[in-house]
Amino acid sequence: MSTNAFFHQNISKIRRVVQASFGLFTLFIGYRFFLFYQWTQDQGQYVARPPGVEGFLPISALLSLKRFILTAEFDPIHPAGLVIFMAALTIGLLARKGFCGWICPVGFLSHQVQWIGAKFKILRKVPVWLALLLSSIKYLFLGFFLYIICWKMDVAAIASFLQTPYNLAADAKMLQFFLSPSHLTLAILISLVVLSFVIANFWCRFLCPYGALLGLLALVSPLQVNRESKTCIDCRKCDARCPGGIKVSQKHTVRSPECVGCLECIAICPQKECLTLQGAGRKVGSWLLPLLTVIIFLGFWIGANFSGHWQSQVSPATFKQMYQVAEKISHPTTY
Ligand code: SF4
Ligand code: SF4
Ligand code: SF4
Repeated sequence: MSTNAFFHQNISKIRRVVQASFGLFTLFIGYRFFLFYQWTQDQGQYVARPPGVEGFLPISALLSLKRFILTAEFDPIHPAGLVIFMAALTIGLLARKGFCGWICPVGFLSHQVQWIGAKFKILRKVPVWLALLLSSIKYLFLGFFLYIICWKMDVAAIASFLQTPYNLAADAKMLQFFLSPSHLTLAILISLVVLSFVIANFWCRFLCPYGALLGLLALVSPLQVNRESKTCIDCRKCDARCPGGIKVSQKHTVRSPECVGCLECIAICPQKECLTLQGAGRKVGSWLLPLLTVIIFLGFWIGANFSGHWQSQVSPATFKQMYQVAEKISHPTTY
């Protein structure tokens, strides 16, 4: 059996394994960060702060990216956050939203909830007009952040913000946000989870600005799912399986920014060679998309480690000082 035939038969299983591996690793990072945080609160032994936690600070990473592009200065406070962000953007440009479909732990969780919703037959389809309307929310969020960061803030303002105690303790504030959520936060989180059981991929499809940005970059990605109309029997299994709500059965080439590159449509299609992956107009093995995604992601991580751009330059003692007052630090209004 060829590599492509094996991959084709096992796409869903392989994807679960890859996503679960990244998900477990993220849990491990979260646990280590919690121990580090406990140490900063004088409640445990010292554990090194895991830099990977900075992957959850995309706003700080976007600010750092603008400064890096304009000044070549790499952020010394949350460098891993910038590395992860740049890896995700590069994946978006070359391998669609492979970051969403194969790596992001939130995407993985979202797909598991969707799977449970489908098992219990409570999943409902969203009419096209409503899906379009709801999708606009994530672009509004993205537009807001891009407007503030790319348009309103100059390099001096960004440099000033990145050095604030607020940015330094941003990961601790995020942890506190989840450790002691307000009633409003709890209500929003529970609503999002409940909605995700009923509407597939609710957060990712309609609300996540990170995914919106990756989707826009994916518009120029050379990889796309292609449908051969001559062999298509119009069974619409691909439409039912697509987490992006895309009507694959009506497309010749899937260029939608909602396509997360999960390849589930290819996996479910009963017709041989009807749905395939195309790269720059030529048929390529569908394994190429996840392989490229994982190689880019790990490549950035390895490169950053070797070049000294992974570990924060901030000392554990300084983090400790900031985390101890994190709850009292509010968002700076002037930079
Ligand atoms: S849309 Fe956002 S939360 Fe969902 S998988 Fe993509 S980056 Fe992760
Ligand atoms: S079009 Fe196919 S690859 Fe893209 S999101 Fe839908 S099922 Fe996944
Ligand atoms: S699953 Fe395959 S055969 Fe069925 S509608 Fe989609 S592309 Fe056509």
